[in-house]
Amino acid sequence: MPVSGTTRCASPFVVRGWCPSAWRPLESGDGLIVRLRPPLARLTRAQALGLCELALGHGSGTLDLTSRGNLQLRGVRETTLRPLLEGLVALGLVDGDAEREARRNLTLAPDWSEGDETEGIARAFMDRLDRLPPLPGKVGFAIDAGSQPVLGLVPADFRIERGETGALILRAEGRETGVPVDMDGAAEALIDLAHWFVDSGGAGSGRMVRHHAELPAWAQGAVRPAAPRGPLAPGLHPLGAAFGVAFGSLHAEALAELLDKTEARAVRLTPWRVLLLENAALVPAVGFATEASDPSLRADACPGMPACPQASVETRPVAERLAPHVAGRLHVSGCAKGCARSLPAAVTLTGRGGTFDLSFETRAGAPPVIAGLQPHQILTHFGAD
Ligand code: SF4
Repeated sequence: MPVSGTTRCASPFVVRGWCPSAWRPLESGDGLIVRLRPPLARLTRAQALGLCELALGHGSGTLDLTSRGNLQLRGVRETTLRPLLEGLVALGLVDGDAEREARRNLTLAPDWSEGDETEGIARAFMDRLDRLPPLPGKVGFAIDAGSQPVLGLVPADFRIERGETGALILRAEGRETGVPVDMDGAAEALIDLAHWFVDSGGAGSGRMVRHHAELPAWAQGAVRPAAPRGPLAPGLHPLGAAFGVAFGSLHAEALAELLDKTEARAVRLTPWRVLLLENAALVPAVGFATEASDPSLRADACPGMPACPQASVETRPVAERLAPHVAGRLHVSGCAKGCARSLPAAVTLTGRGGTFDLSFETRAGAPPVIAGLQPHQILTHFGAD
């Protein structure tokens, strides 16, 4: 199904400078980016293998894991976009209705179990997608109904999470407390809050955190979220095994190989650059980290040059070489925008005019301590050459 483009679009599908989705791909330096939001953030083995085949046949084969637990196919050609989408719809990974696909902006705690509250509320929410109002593209929902919240730092606007009293709460982003809800009413409550957001002018602010209108009385509560638990890390897991993915970027061939090697039943996406493979063995696999201490997992690096037209430097080769030599977080950014990390890092390298600016305990684009560094100078500086 084509979607309406802008005057800048060369294709009826393609939207530039936009938050990408399956039906609204974004043009990048390496082709189109097609973002998927698999239902329940889970791909069966057959779906995952089908996805790998499509990514190789219609794109570059590169897959990105996003900070909301979604998946992006990179390097897609405009000429093969339609068969790709048809294939993804046939696999059940994309909704054939572009509007419904856009509304499924949902992140859920990835370690849900069949029949638990997280799964139940997520399914109830997906059954009611047609009742959501039109929302700004980045507005999203989080369902985090495990014994302790795990998605607190994951971007979302409206949350169902475990409160400190043990009850489920509905909480709007930017508010420290929420109101108790029961499981049967949780999905409805999310939808009602989205309607209030639109009716009270929230769309103008773009995100809930910037919308300062007083919440309706029914959504005001004094229950704080329960103490959070840490994000899922590589290693053995009660559901199978978790594998870290450096920079959140992997190749379809590597994923297919991993599925084969581990005999996994399904793949769950997480917002932390980790894949949780159900019923899988924890085996060493090229391109995947099996231990939380792997240095590559301490590094953030955007795709850089040539994938991003804004970049003037290659980022990931530098980050890979440097990560083991940096204590703390490393951020290598292709430009001052800092897409890979919005928070400060212990060491930040920002591309500018073909060289890097080096700074410490800052965000990308901050005034440099040393400017104009070539990659070999950076490696020497950190003893990594
Ligand atoms: S930080 Fe700059 S170079 Fe990197 S992906 Fe974002 S816009 Fe592109």
